[in-house]
Order: sequence, then C-alpha cells, then structure tokens
Amino acid sequence: IVLQSPEKVHVFKSKLPPIPISNHLPLHTYCFENFSNYPNRTCLLAGKSYTFAETHLTCRKVAAGLSNLGIKRGDVVMVLLQNCAEFVFTFIGASMIGAVTTTANPFYTTKEIFNQFDASKSKLIITQSQYVDKLRDRKIDFAVITIDDPPEGCLHFSVLSDANEDEIPVVEIDPNDAVALPFSSGTTGLPKGVILTHKSLITSVAQQIDGENPNLYLKSDDVVLCVLPLFHIYSLNSVLLCSLRAGAAVLLVQKFEIGSLLELIQRHRVSVAAVVPPLVLALARNPIVDKFDLSSIRVVLSGAAPLGKELEAALLSRVPQAVFGQGYGMTEAGPVLSMSPSFAKQPLPTKSGSCGNVVRNAELKVVDPETGRSLPRNKPGEICIRGLQIMKGYLNDAEATARTIDVDGWLHTGDIGIVDDDEDVFIVDRVKELIKFKGFQVPPAELEALLISHPSIEDAAVVPQKDEAAGEVPVAFVVPSNGFALTEEDVKEFIAKQVVFYKRLHQVHFVHVIPKSPAGKILRKDLRAKLAAAY
Ligand code: ATP
Ligand code: MG
Repeated sequence: IVLQSPEKVHVFKSKLPPIPISNHLPLHTYCFENFSNYPNRTCLLAGKSYTFAETHLTCRKVAAGLSNLGIKRGDVVMVLLQNCAEFVFTFIGASMIGAVTTTANPFYTTKEIFNQFDASKSKLIITQSQYVDKLRDRKIDFAVITIDDPPEGCLHFSVLSDANEDEIPVVEIDPNDAVALPFSSGTTGLPKGVILTHKSLITSVAQQIDGENPNLYLKSDDVVLCVLPLFHIYSLNSVLLCSLRAGAAVLLVQKFEIGSLLELIQRHRVSVAAVVPPLVLALARNPIVDKFDLSSIRVVLSGAAPLGKELEAALLSRVPQAVFGQGYGMTEAGPVLSMSPSFAKQPLPTKSGSCGNVVRNAELKVVDPETGRSLPRNKPGEICIRGLQIMKGYLNDAEATARTIDVDGWLHTGDIGIVDDDEDVFIVDRVKELIKFKGFQVPPAELEALLISHPSIEDAAVVPQKDEAAGEVPVAFVVPSNGFALTEEDVKEFIAKQVVFYKRLHQVHFVHVIPKSPAGKILRKDLRAKLAAAY
C-alpha cells in the first residue's frame, strides 16, 4: 500500500488579528447599534440632510408602511433607483420586517428589469416616475411606488414614509435569512442573483470596519462619497452599510458628472472616496480637477476592476495628501475579499498595484485551476475564499452554487491572482479573460494598464481574437486622446517595447468609447462580439 502524504493546503490570513463579530444580530440592528450616542450627527446628505435619528425613524416608518402594504418576512422588494435617501430607507426598512431587497439598475430595459423581477419573485417596485413607462408593458398586479410625483396607477413613497412606526410587526429574524439579493455585474454573461444574509453582510462590514484596529478606519467626522451606484454591492456594502455602522456621513450623488461631482466633494469636504477605475481615470486626467479644492480627501479606495500602478500614481499626484489603496470584491463573496491595510487605524504598508491583504476572520487560498491543488506564495492561480461573509448561494440555481462553493466551503472566484511574501494580494485577471497565445497566457488587464499609461491614449481594452496559428492573439480597442494623431503602428510598437513577444498586440482598433458597466467594468464580451461580427 502506498500511503499518500496528506496534501499541504496553503491558507492565507489577515495580518490583523481576528475579532468578535456581532453577526447574530439583524443587519439593521447592527448598522444602527451605536447611533443613540450620536442621534444628531449627519447620516445622509442627499440635497436635504438627515441626522442619524431622522434616518432611523424614517426607516422604521417605511418598515411599517411596507408591512401595511402586505410585505412579510421573506418577501422581496425591488429597488429601481439612482442613489437617494429613499434607497436607504427602503433597504433598511425592508430589513426591519425581515424582507429582502433586490437592487437593479434603473437604466435597465423592460426585459432586463422583469428578468430580475421574476427571478426574485419581487412583490413591489420602488422607483422614479421617469422609469415607470418601462414597467407599463406588464399588467401591474403589484404596487409601483415612486419617490416623486406618482404617474397614474402608482403610489407615492409617502405611503411608506408617513406610516406609523409603532405599527411595525414583531418579526423573528434568523441570521441566515436573506436580506439582500444583488445581481452580479454581468461582465461575463447574464447577471446572477446572489443571496446575501444578515449574517454574511454583517460579517463583511465588520471585517472592514470593526475591531480595535479596523482594516478600513472610518471616523465619525468622515464624509463618505457615494457616487458609485447603490444597486451594486460595492457601494451598498463598503460605502453605505459601513458608514451607517461607523457613524459617518454619506454623501449620496445621483449620477456621475465630473464637474458637479468635484463641486460636491469641495462643498461637503468629502474625506473618503470610494471609486472605480474609470472614475480614477477621469480624476487623474481631466484638467478641470485642478480648479477644485480636494484637500479634504484622506482616503481613496478603488475596487471592482483592475487598476494599474501608472494610473494610481497619476491619481495621487492630484490628491497627494490622500492614502490610496484597493479593495478586491465579488458579489458572491459578500463582497470584500481583500482590502488595503494602509486604510487601517494603525496602517500597514502595502504595494502599489496590490489589492491589499485578505480581510480578517477569513481564509484565502490560491489553487491551480487545472488540478485544484493549493499553491504556495508567489504562484498565480485561482483565488478562493472561505468565511461567514460569503453568499448563501445563487438564486434558483443550486447547480451553479455547487460549482462555485465546494463541499469544504471554499468559494471559487474565477479570478487569477497571487499572494506574495508580504501577504499582498495581486489580481492578474479573470480565468476566463486570459488570452491564450499558443499556450502562453496573456492577461488583458496588464496590457490595458500599459496602454492607458500612454499620454495620447485616453482609454483602452484588450480582447482575444481567434487566430489559426496561435489559437488566440491579443487585439486592442483604443480611445485616442483629443487632438493626437496616433497610428496603429505607434500603439503596437509602444506595447512591443515593454512586453515579451507573445503579449504583443496584433491589431489596434480606434474607437470613441470603451463599453463599461455602471460599476466600472470593461464589458469585454461586447468587444469580443464586435470582433466576431466584423470577421
Ligand atoms: P458576472 O459575474 O456577472 O460576469 P462580475 O464578476 O463583474 O460579473 P461583480 O461581482 O460585480 O460581477 O464583480 C466581481 C469581479 O470584479 C471579481 O471577480 C473580479 O474579477 C473583479 N474585481 C473586483 N475588484 C477588483 C480589483 N480590485 N482588481 C481586479 N479585479 C477586481
Ligand atoms: Mg463574477
């Protein structure tokens, strides 16, 4: 008999010690656990400002209002809103009666909205009057509530916010009950419904901001920028829920427009800015930035998509006083897997280009995607995460859940990354996005970072093109900066000088804009389709 030696599993943990986490509580209780110490502090800035006491009271009214309309524990409410105070009231109000919120992009088409509406079995929709036309195609056998003047057949939000908070029913909430049903971004296919429980969201928030030395230190006098859409889990969790728990103010910005955004940052003295790479690109490159006083910003957190070192440096030259770092998240992971330790109360160093260290109270490993074996430091492989913060599962898809979370509780991310000698996590790219040139792997994110470091390139994306000899070759879509004459040869040569032969670009297509999701992700599937259609 040959005894196989038990395989060594390389598990990475946070450098910050584990902490006790109150994840037995319902999410709303946890978020507002300390607010009686600071009832009059500003909680939400949304045109009008709301103190913590006002916010909490309105959430309770909305909870009673939802219950009056017949919403019960386990029922799903769809929020189809841009960032606004009513978004917050609805999400927390629903939590208070054990209901679940599914958040969708108000720019979705009717079809996209109802795919999510049907899949989540939503009972009602809360939206703005301008989007109601998209809901008319379907017989409205559920309530549509608008936060502004209700069109015919709709109710006004005051049916919720004017309800009597004493009428909130008593509900038992189990920590494993769903509270949020976000959908993943749909970067690689159709968006997937993700079940997040009270326990998973509390765990994730605590991993970021709780403990003696919180990984992301939010102070009570912070003003946190909320310009990223709350319908995406990054903003909902790391901006909204974290700020509520920490007692910091949230500046709700409806939509991104660089001039008005800069004016708001200046006026409200924003101190913490959660951003995504396209926003970093705008802040780093747009000359208008110099006209504003951004000296209040002390922390810039970027996440949701890869960000190269060059862009990071360019941004820091605009806000030299700020600490810059990345977080790495995935809807299914609750969403944060790793976060820069440079944001901690007692900061620790991390390297430029890294996504920080795995969050505390969690385990991370890197596995060979072929064999599933765990890999040691500095070896690229698929990142897996384990901890109480991860999703309960995909909505209505036990098979996909079983493919993603293995029997040992590891969530497989589909992202290729490494952990280095200092615990720093680096994301190389998604397993599925890697371009395979004769068996050599080409990460598009690496080439994209190089491309946008070119002074005459405003934005870029790289995708594979089928090739008889090589299997796949990298080709680029490039947005040239205004007024620069850039040729295909210039771009190819610029890259060729900096990379090994198999990463060289085979074609360059000049375009006006790179398609991106609202959460700042390059929609490479759209570009691949464009290529496929052209040849
Ligand atoms: P879908 O799963 O629907 O195709 P998606 O994976 O883009 O879309 P999200 O859950 O919003 O949906 O995004 C998670 C993914 O975003 C991660 O798996 C990773 O590929 C990418 N990502 C997030 N943060 C970072 C980061 N800091 N650096 C690089 N990639 C990141
Ligand atoms: Mg995904």
